[in-house]
Amino acid sequence: MKTLANQHFTNRFATLPSGFYSRLPATPLAAPYLVAFNPEAAQLLDLNPLSTQHADLAAYLSGNMPLPGQDSLAALYAGHQFGVYVPQLGDGRALWLGEIRNHAGQHWEVQLKGSGPTPYSRNGDGRAVLRSSIREYLCSEAMYGLGIPTTRALSITGSDEAVYRERMETAAVVTRLAPSFVRFGSFEVFYYRRQHTEIRTLADFVIKHYYPECREQNNPYVGLLQAVVANTARLIAQWQAVGFCHGVMNTDNMSILGLTIDYGPFGFLDAFDPAHVCNHSDPGGRYAFDQQPQVGLWNLQCLAQALLPLMDQDSAIDALNQYKAIFETALDQNLRRKLGLHTTQPDDMALISQLLGMMARDRVDYTLFFRRLCDFQPQQANTALRDMFLQGDAFDQWAQHYSLRLRQESMHQTQRSVVMRQCNPKYILRNYMAEIAIGKAEQERDYSEIERLRQLLSQPFSEQPEQEHYANSPPEWATTLSVSCSS
Ligand code: AMP
Ligand code: MG
Repeated sequence: MKTLANQHFTNRFATLPSGFYSRLPATPLAAPYLVAFNPEAAQLLDLNPLSTQHADLAAYLSGNMPLPGQDSLAALYAGHQFGVYVPQLGDGRALWLGEIRNHAGQHWEVQLKGSGPTPYSRNGDGRAVLRSSIREYLCSEAMYGLGIPTTRALSITGSDEAVYRERMETAAVVTRLAPSFVRFGSFEVFYYRRQHTEIRTLADFVIKHYYPECREQNNPYVGLLQAVVANTARLIAQWQAVGFCHGVMNTDNMSILGLTIDYGPFGFLDAFDPAHVCNHSDPGGRYAFDQQPQVGLWNLQCLAQALLPLMDQDSAIDALNQYKAIFETALDQNLRRKLGLHTTQPDDMALISQLLGMMARDRVDYTLFFRRLCDFQPQQANTALRDMFLQGDAFDQWAQHYSLRLRQESMHQTQRSVVMRQCNPKYILRNYMAEIAIGKAEQERDYSEIERLRQLLSQPFSEQPEQEHYANSPPEWATTLSVSCSS
C-alpha cells in the first residue's frame, strides 16, 4: 500500500504529439482542505485507504503540490453541443496528472476537475463549485454501485476561494479516475480541422490501449466504431433501466469507452415521466429521458463522421445500424430482469410497456415501484403496489397478467424475490439527497452526509435498515428543486 506521494505516474497520452493537448500546471487553490476522500477509489490506485491522514493530501489533490512524475496536461477536444458544432472545447477546467498502473495491471488516469484555467477555458474561470463537485463525486460512485460503467471519484478538496455562478459559491476540485477520458469530441476536432493524420494517430492510440481486439479485424477502425457503438448502446440501456437522466449528452460528454462521464445537471427519475427533462437549461427537452437512446445514436453518427477518413461510408453505416438492435436487446433484457422474467415469452414486451404506460399515467415513483415489485405475490391483492396507482383497477388487471406470466417461470417465488433485489435498487441518488449533503457542507462545513451517502449508495441493492428513510419518495420541498447546467 502506497501514498500518492510515492506512487509512480506515467502518462501515455502525453506521448502523443503536442497538438493533442497543452501542458500546464494547476492554478493553486487558496488554502485547500479535504472535503471527501473515497477509500474504495483509493484502492484502485493501490493507495492506503487511510492515506487521508497524510498531511499533504489536500495540497496534492487540489493540484497545489505536484506529484512525483506528474506531467499535467489539458486535452483538446471539440463537440456538438445541443446539436451545434463547437470547434474548440477541450479541458477548460480539468488537468490530467498522468496515470497509475495498479498491482492488477490496470491503468487509471487521474484527473483534477476545477484546477484552474487552461488554453481551452474560453470565457470560463477554470473552476468548479463545491455544489457540483459533491454531485459528481456522489453520482459517479452511485453509478458504480449500480453496476453502470462510469468514471470514478477519488476525492473532493474545497477552498474558501469565491466562485461566482448564479450566486456566490466556493471552489472545489474533484479528483476523478478513468481508464481514459477520450471523448467522441476528441476525434471530431481533427475531422473538422481536416487533420486526418491526427484522427488516425488518436484511433491507433485508443485501439492499442483500450480496444486491442480490434486489431484482429480487416479494418481495425471499423472494429473500433463497432465496439463504441455496442458499448454506448449498452450503457444507455442501463441508464434507461435504472431511470438515469444524464442531462447534457453533448458529444464532448460521450466517452470513447462507453462510460458515464461529466456529471452536471443529471437526475434519477422520481415519479415516472418518460419525457422528464432534468436540466432546466434544456427547455426544448433535447436530452429528455426518453430521448437518450436516440441521442446516443445521433452522437455516434457524429463520431462515425469523424472516423470516415479511416473507413468507407458503407462500413460506417453498417456499424451504426447495429445500434438499434444492441440497445433494444440490452434494454429488453434489463427490463425483463427487473420483472423477474428469466425466460422469454412472446407477450413479454407488451406486458412491460403496459406497465410503463400505467406508471407514466399515474406518475408512479420508478425506483420504489420496482423495489416493491420484488415482493409481488401472484394472485394476491399486493396493496403496497396497488396503492401507488390512481387507477387501482388497471393495476389489478395488469397484476393478473403478470401472475399468469410468472407461472411460466421455473424459479421459486422466494428465489425470484432475491434475484429481483439484485437489479432493482433500493437506494438511488435523488436530487434532494445530494441537496441535503450540499447544504450541510456549504453552511456548516459538515461533510459527514457526503460520506454517509457515498457508503449508502455503494450498496444500492442491499437492505440497510438503519438508512431506510433514504428509500422513501422525495419530500414535498424537493418537488421544486431545479438543477441547471452551471457548475
Ligand atoms: P461541460 O458542460 O461541463 O461538460 O463543459 C463544456 C465545456 O466547457 C468543456 O470544454 C469544459 O471544460 C468547459 N467549461 C465548463 N465550465 C468551465 C469553467 N468554469 N471554466 C472553464 N471551462 C469550463
Ligand atoms: Mg464536459
